[in-house]
Amino acid sequence: MVAVDHLLRSSSNPAAVGRRRWFAVVPRRLATLAAVAGVLATQLITAGGAVAAVPITDPNNVQVLVTKQRPLDPLRYVPPDLVRGPGGYLMRSVTSTALGRLCAGAAAAGSPLATVSAYRSYDQQAALFASYVNQYGLAYAETISAHPGHSEHQTGLAVDVGNADGSCGLGSCFGSTPGGRWVAANAWRYGFIVRYPNGYTAITGYTWEPWHLRYVGPTLAADMRNRGIATMEQYFSTPPRPAFATSADLGAIDPAGTLWSYPATGRGTLGQRVAVGAGWGGVTGGAVVDWNGDGRLDVIGRHADGTLWFYPGRSTPGLGTGVLLGTGWNGWAVTPGPWVNGRATSIIARGPDGVLYQYPNAGNRLGARTVIGRGWGTTTTTMVDVDGDGRQDLIAKRSDGLLLLYRGNGAGGFVPETRAVLGRGWNGISSVSVVFGFNGAGSKGVLARSAVDGSLSYYPLIGGRFAPRIVVGSGWSTYRILS
Ligand SMILES: [Zn+2]
Repeated sequence: MVAVDHLLRSSSNPAAVGRRRWFAVVPRRLATLAAVAGVLATQLITAGGAVAAVPITDPNNVQVLVTKQRPLDPLRYVPPDLVRGPGGYLMRSVTSTALGRLCAGAAAAGSPLATVSAYRSYDQQAALFASYVNQYGLAYAETISAHPGHSEHQTGLAVDVGNADGSCGLGSCFGSTPGGRWVAANAWRYGFIVRYPNGYTAITGYTWEPWHLRYVGPTLAADMRNRGIATMEQYFSTPPRPAFATSADLGAIDPAGTLWSYPATGRGTLGQRVAVGAGWGGVTGGAVVDWNGDGRLDVIGRHADGTLWFYPGRSTPGLGTGVLLGTGWNGWAVTPGPWVNGRATSIIARGPDGVLYQYPNAGNRLGARTVIGRGWGTTTTTMVDVDGDGRQDLIAKRSDGLLLLYRGNGAGGFVPETRAVLGRGWNGISSVSVVFGFNGAGSKGVLARSAVDGSLSYYPLIGGRFAPRIVVGSGWSTYRILS
C-alpha cells in the first residue's frame, strides 16, 4: 500500500518522503487503474483459502495472509517485536534483519535502495484510508489503500522501498528502474516477495506496487518462486487438503502440542507445513495409516496415559473425533500396517515382556491378539514391503543399533530364514517413518530422525536395501514424529 506516513505525522518515518512526490505518483497510477477497472468491479479475489487456515490467520506468523477479505485478528493487532529497521522505520525484527541484507545485496549490485515506509498502526491506517476516501472517493481509495486492520503494513512484515536517489518513488515506473528490476529478481533470496505484482489486480485487489515488499520468510519465498506462484492468495487458496494427503506426508507434534502435517513435494523434500490441530501434547507416539480402509490416511495415537486412539482422516483438513481402541499400552512398541494380505490394517505390537503380537482390526476396536514372536526385548519395528514381493515385512531395530529384515509370509507369520542385515548404527536413529513417493513416483523409503543431531534424512529402499541417505532437514529433535 502507498506510503504516506508523513501525512499522518508518523514518528516512525524520520526520513519522510515529500508530500509533493506522492501526489505526483497518482496520475500515473490512474492510467493503470483504468485498464483494470473492469475486473476491479467484480473483485474476483480468491482469498479465503481453506488450506492452512490456522497458521496463516495467526498475525505473528510471518506467512500470515492479510487481504481485503481477511483482516488481521485481532483487528488492532500490534506486532510484539517492533524495532527500528533500515532507514529508522518501525518493522518487525525479522523484517529488519532481512531488509538489511536485501539492501546490502542491492547496494552491492549497484542499485542502492532506501526504505520509504514500513509498519503502520491501526490508527495510522485508519487516518490514511480516510484521507484517500476524502480525496478520491471510496472506489479509488480501495484500490490503492487498505481499510484499517486489513493492511499488510500493520503486520510489521511489509516495507515499501525505493531507489536511494528517490527516482520513481512509489510509482509503477520504479519497476522499470535497475533497483525495481533487481528487487523483482532477487527479493526472494532474502525472504521477501513483491506482494502486488503486475497483472494480478483481479486476485490481490491492488494495482501493481513494485515497491511493496512483504517478508514471508525464505521458505515460502523460494517455494513460490520455484512453483511459479505469484501471489499469496493463489498459494494459500488451493483446494482443501486432507490432513495427510499422501503416504509421503510426515506428521509431527511440536513441544507446544500442535500436530503438523508436512506435505511431501514428491521431489525428495517436504513442503510448507500445515497445522492439523492443537492439543496433541499428550500423544507420545503414533502412526499415519489408513486404519478403517476408506482410502484416507488416519492417525493412530498413543497417549501418555496408555490409551490408544484412532483418529479418522477426512477429505478436508483436520481429523475426525478420536475413537478409543484400548488401554494399558504404555511400554509397548506399536506398529500399525496391512500385515496380513487381504485383511484390514492391523497392529503389530511388542510388549514390555518382549513378546510380539498381532492385533486384528475389528472395526472401531481391536480383535483377539495372536503371538507371532518371542524374545524381541526392546526391539522396535517398522512395517514395509522391503523386498517388493507383495508381502509386508518388518524392519527390526535392535537396541544395539543392528537393523534386521524379518520378511513376512503374507499370512501373519515370518519367512523362516536367516535374517538379513539392513543396517548398523541405527541406535542413533530415534524415529523411522515409511514413505511412498517421497522422491518420485513409485519410490519407497523411510524418513529417519537422528537422535544425535536432530536431522531428518531420507533412506531410499531400492532392491531390498537401503541406499545412501539424503538429508531432508534439521531441527527435528524436539518433535514427536509419527511413523
Ligand atoms: Zn506498501
